[in-house]
Amino acid sequence: MSDTALSHTRTLTGKSRVAGVFGWPVDHSRSPRLHGFWLAQYGIDGAYVPFATHPRDLPRAIRALPSLGFRGGNVTLPHKEPALGLVDEVSRVAQRIGAVNTLVVREDGSILGDNTDGFGFLANLQAAQPRWRPDAGPAVVLGAGGAARAIVVALLESGVPRIVLANRTQRRAEELAETLEAAVGADAAGRIAVVAWHKREAALEAAGLVVNSTQLGLAGQPPLDLALDALPGTAVVYDIVYVPLETPLLAAARARGNPAVDGLGMLLHQARPGFAAWFGREPEVTAELRDFVLKDIP
Ligand code: NAP
Repeated sequence: MSDTALSHTRTLTGKSRVAGVFGWPVDHSRSPRLHGFWLAQYGIDGAYVPFATHPRDLPRAIRALPSLGFRGGNVTLPHKEPALGLVDEVSRVAQRIGAVNTLVVREDGSILGDNTDGFGFLANLQAAQPRWRPDAGPAVVLGAGGAARAIVVALLESGVPRIVLANRTQRRAEELAETLEAAVGADAAGRIAVVAWHKREAALEAAGLVVNSTQLGLAGQPPLDLALDALPGTAVVYDIVYVPLETPLLAAARARGNPAVDGLGMLLHQARPGFAAWFGREPEVTAELRDFVLKDIP
């Protein structure tokens, strides 16, 4: 790849399409590698650049995108919520999630703030487990942080009839349910139930999907403590943690024959809409892309 990357860099011209990612820090971001792969694969005259942007500089950095000729970019932690107030228009899904992860500079120079995390979550689920159906049973979501919020919005929009939310800090899950019911409106009414963290295992009974969106299982964190005995054998177990790729939860799910989905695909799929908007080509998530991004994950 290094030769390809070098020759690719040399192809930049005055017509190059350029996008970037703003984070603080930004060096952990896999997005430059991911978009760099697609740019090289499709031979696109373009570049995707990481920017370490201090929060105090974010307003100026984002507002400079149109005058610098950027097509847009991504925002990552800690900028996802502040970016909401810095763009000209916020997409409906970003409003619902309450955070922006994708910026698109439009023809008239205005900036659209969008959020593709929920799209990535669902697209990965559908690609990895095409037989999963939203009406397969309640979806149990563990966690109530930023990722959980995007996931619950995606599940609501996909038509999952009932979402059961459990979080260590129960108040946070209740707030998430309340704000989402207000943001989504009648479509969400009565569809999100909060259960106590210690009752999470009982909630698995009759579930069609269980999602870990906590930090548990992440390298350096304790594993998620979740006995799967009550879970139907057909239920999909989805862990959005991808370092390591095979978490103890996924290993336990596979051991009892449940379909299992890892979190790397969510990261890859969430990048698709941005790439298409900036570089004019619908990119594909392939095994080669997965391998390439995985090589950079310890
Ligand atoms: P966040 O906003 O900080 O939320 C963290 C969540 O983890 C909270 O629900 C928190 O519960 C819970 N938690 C942390 N330590 C815990 C413990 N010891 N016991 C029980 N619960 C605990 O983080 P986030 O942005 O939502 O990210 C969550 C995870 O998803 C991270 O591992 C992140 O890497 C991963 N992620 C993956 C993707 C992807 O593309 N695959 C995208 C985004 C995030 P409390 O509310 O009680 O603190």
